[in-house]
Amino acid sequence: LNAYFSPIQRESGFVSGLVCVLHDVTGQQKEERERKQFVSNVSHELRTPLTSVHSYVEALSDGAWQDKEVAPKFLNVIQGETDRMIRMINDLLSLSRMDAGTTKLNLEYVNIKELLNYILNRFDMIIKNEESDSSKKKYKIERHFTKKDLWVEIDTDKFTQVIDNIMNNAIKYSPDGGIITVRLLETHNHVIMSISDQGLGIPRKDLGRIFDRFFRVDKARSRKQGGTGLGLAISKEVINMLGGQIWVDSVEGHGSTFYISLPYVPYEEEDDWDDQEAE
Ligand code: ADP
Repeated sequence: LNAYFSPIQRESGFVSGLVCVLHDVTGQQKEERERKQFVSNVSHELRTPLTSVHSYVEALSDGAWQDKEVAPKFLNVIQGETDRMIRMINDLLSLSRMDAGTTKLNLEYVNIKELLNYILNRFDMIIKNEESDSSKKKYKIERHFTKKDLWVEIDTDKFTQVIDNIMNNAIKYSPDGGIITVRLLETHNHVIMSISDQGLGIPRKDLGRIFDRFFRVDKARSRKQGGTGLGLAISKEVINMLGGQIWVDSVEGHGSTFYISLPYVPYEEEDDWDDQEAE
């Protein structure tokens, strides 16, 4: 807290009062601290893949390029790491646009059940394609949707990105043969979606930080799977921009459920007409 005092002086020179301005700087300091932490995280997150690319390139130019066994493996790592860096930079750019408030939303009324079905059909298609591939993990998606058609005002592309991200996490952290359950229901002024997996879950102490930028329960594991640690942070920004909320519930060792709620106004055409006629 900063305090500034300034005397109120009469023309006679007589001091008749004191003005005190109190300025709360704890918020500013916290922001500054977080900003520094963020820059340090970005540097560290990029240094790790760059260092590994550097050593693989060095090994290749030291002679490994001639080894028909080893060279393709090294190139594979290099490609994986550079791809991940590109994903990270793209994620950072989209976060920075959202921070600056320059992200444009393409809002439109969408039948959310139809959209969820469309998104999940894509995942089912992937499952079908991978059916005969024994190296791929098996999982199933179950849908429990309300019968009602719910029209919600969203940015379709950005919302799809959020569901894709949560679904991809659910798949990533699911055990072989796991079931991912997707639910859609409505309250009188919200639609609520949830995505549950039977994976390893999130420790209770980490639940509050899961949406923070670069936070991962297991950094090494996330990196190995190509994660940037920014997916949930972006998801949270997008859902907040749409006026909604996102949260998680999880029991370690049993699975996690991610929830999204969005504001929704029940569409009752006839009532509207009645109201207008009565006016
Ligand atoms: P990434 O998946 O790229 O690491 P995210 O922001 O999508 O980054 O997720 C952050 C972290 O949250 C993950 O690293 C993981 O530790 C945890 N997490 C996310 N989804 C799940 C899930 N379904 N089950 C268990 N842990 C999860």
